[in-house]
Amino acid sequence: MAPQAKVQCFAAKDKKGKLERCEYEPLPLQAGDIGTMDLHVVEWISGCVLCYAKRGQPFWKAVLTFFLASAEIKVTHNGLCHSDVHVMREEWGPCKYPMVPGHEIVGVVEQLGSSVTHLKKGDTVGFGWFKDCCQHCDACITGNDNICPEGAATIMGGGKNTGGFAERFRGSGNLAVKIPDNMSPADAAPLLCAGITVWSPIRKYVTKPGMKVGVVGLGGLGHLAIQFLAKAVGAEVFAISHSPNKREEAMKLGATHFVGLEDIKDNTLDVVLNTTPGGMDAKKLLSKVGYNGALVYLGGGTDTIKIVAFDLIPAQKQVVGSCVGGRALMREMFQLASLHDIKPIVDKMPLDKCNEAVDRLMGGEARYRSALGLTG
Ligand SMILES: [Zn+2]
Ligand SMILES: [Zn+2]
Repeated sequence: MAPQAKVQCFAAKDKKGKLERCEYEPLPLQAGDIGTMDLHVVEWISGCVLCYAKRGQPFWKAVLTFFLASAEIKVTHNGLCHSDVHVMREEWGPCKYPMVPGHEIVGVVEQLGSSVTHLKKGDTVGFGWFKDCCQHCDACITGNDNICPEGAATIMGGGKNTGGFAERFRGSGNLAVKIPDNMSPADAAPLLCAGITVWSPIRKYVTKPGMKVGVVGLGGLGHLAIQFLAKAVGAEVFAISHSPNKREEAMKLGATHFVGLEDIKDNTLDVVLNTTPGGMDAKKLLSKVGYNGALVYLGGGTDTIKIVAFDLIPAQKQVVGSCVGGRALMREMFQLASLHDIKPIVDKMPLDKCNEAVDRLMGGEARYRSALGLTG
């Protein structure tokens, strides 16, 4: 049995976050791959198998589960998310290098572990923030696999941080999402993180048409939130931004109003989605939320939220967080996006321009999400 071909990729080698060409040995996909692995991969796999075994599975079953449930895709497109940059620059804590970014991955199935029966070679599928979950915990069996305590995040999960900025990608077949036929892979990629990140809280907190919803920040997340709220839910959408040059686009996407935060009367919005990467004043945002309303944090992960309990108590307000979404919501989101023609505005470029894409994202120039194609 020949050794497995290494995966060619772009990776950050330190916290400066510059992406360089690199290669790594992938997870084994078939039992025959095991005998040819590097020693460090064997060590890593052993740790993972022990982890499965600890969940109470017989050891042999744990081995099979781990080895045979994977899907390998030939990557065609990746979205670039702010979280990729946070992780590779160690803004969210220590990162294991080399780190391959990319957690909005679309590609074509090329190989399947023998226990994956719901996919076939040639299917176009996507992977998002998670590449594996335990399948058995309370979160997983209730469709909330995005909060599985043992979930493996695609770019920061366990021994190897190998995301989609590569020619190939392997993840659990269970978490591969089928992409609707009428959607291009470049349009589908940003939905795998940005799309589900906004759809999940909309589904939970925007419970009827006509609710007043503020979307703070009109970037990758915000421009999708406006579309889901307007087209799939029928909400009254307040696009909240201080960039007048985004007005026309926001209205075209479906916003009902385009306003600055200070233009909104206190206690008027049912829900506020904070999609900014950070730096917003929580007290000010919360002041715009009305009775029984919710301020939802989708970004700003390292922000300190400075409020007092009386900002919440009299009007029964909530401040909550939301983290991507489970498989059921992911499927629903793709169905709705396909039905209502909800799609990201993408800045298309080839993967080998990934450093330029990062610069554009950080400089606020990306309109609105970079979609990196392997060949352009
Ligand atoms: Zn993301
Ligand atoms: Zn689980």
